[in-house]
Amino acid sequence: MEASGLAETSIRQENSSVWKAIWNLKVPNVEKNFLWRACHDILPSRVNLKKKKIIEDPSCPLCGREQETTVHILWQCPSAMDAWSVGSTRLQKCQTNGLDFIQIVVEVFNKCSQEDLKMFAGISRRLWLRRNEVVHGGVFLHPNTLVQQSAIAIQDFSKAHEVEQQCQATGELGMSRNWEPPERGWVKINWDASCAKGKGWMGYGVLIRDDQGNVVAAKCSTMVGNLEASVAEARGALLAVHLCKNLGLNWVHLEGDAQVVIKAVNSPEVDWSDVGLMAADIKKELQSIRHWRLSFIRRERNSAAHTLAQLALNNYMDQTWLNEFPACISQIVNTECTTPRNVLN
Ligand SMILES: [Zn+2]
Repeated sequence: MEASGLAETSIRQENSSVWKAIWNLKVPNVEKNFLWRACHDILPSRVNLKKKKIIEDPSCPLCGREQETTVHILWQCPSAMDAWSVGSTRLQKCQTNGLDFIQIVVEVFNKCSQEDLKMFAGISRRLWLRRNEVVHGGVFLHPNTLVQQSAIAIQDFSKAHEVEQQCQATGELGMSRNWEPPERGWVKINWDASCAKGKGWMGYGVLIRDDQGNVVAAKCSTMVGNLEASVAEARGALLAVHLCKNLGLNWVHLEGDAQVVIKAVNSPEVDWSDVGLMAADIKKELQSIRHWRLSFIRRERNSAAHTLAQLALNNYMDQTWLNEFPACISQIVNTECTTPRNVLN
């Protein structure tokens, strides 16, 4: 085999171990996919767009000094270096002059710990998102905020993963159970949050039923902005608690399909993640409710609240119904309860 052939083989072997390492990372799939695309140099950077003759000017939209290749925007651009200098020291030490992003990735994967690798994946993707934001006229996120967001996302992901494993261990996820009315004298509150790409707002749904399954109140609500799913669910829980307080309910059983939120509220520990901070707000609000509990319900059994959240999302709707409810949930409510319903048409 010739020297160049040998070098090629070793690069291929090295690359295949990098793909393996990327897929084994405990980070959201969206981040693994991003790294994979960046390594294959298929991101629509200015240089790649020029190659396809879509644009004329390949210069970096952030610094304007160099051509915008993948390795430039994610590693060499002063704007990227700022963010990497906030991150872990091991990541900072990987100052390579690789011409391709994959060379940087190989070095980082050879030198860094699993935790650093997770941060590397998160920061890389957020650098790209920030670049897109600026290109589309948005604000330039401060490097500290960018790194902080990556750290929080990692924390949220590992927590969700942990909860999933615990549930698998106890068999909770495999249990087949319909919505069940609360204990006698209690009300049950189901809530959910919905979002859709391209919409500038999120939808929330809350449904309160008594121990016979009768609807006490239903609520559709919207909030401008796009929160991460678990934070949105936490906000939905807060909305549900506010509704209970407004109605003066004192024996309340809250039920939602967001494990991370439920765990955070039920935990005595202080948690500084976004979900944790919102959980602290929820706990504070719950203090004025005499008896409460908060439990998990599988998503497919939370369909009434889910439908209300969708109704809010699709119609940008803010409305509360007392002792009645919108027609779109009548079938769900009727199958989950045997007494006649007071449905609105
Ligand atoms: Zn630049």
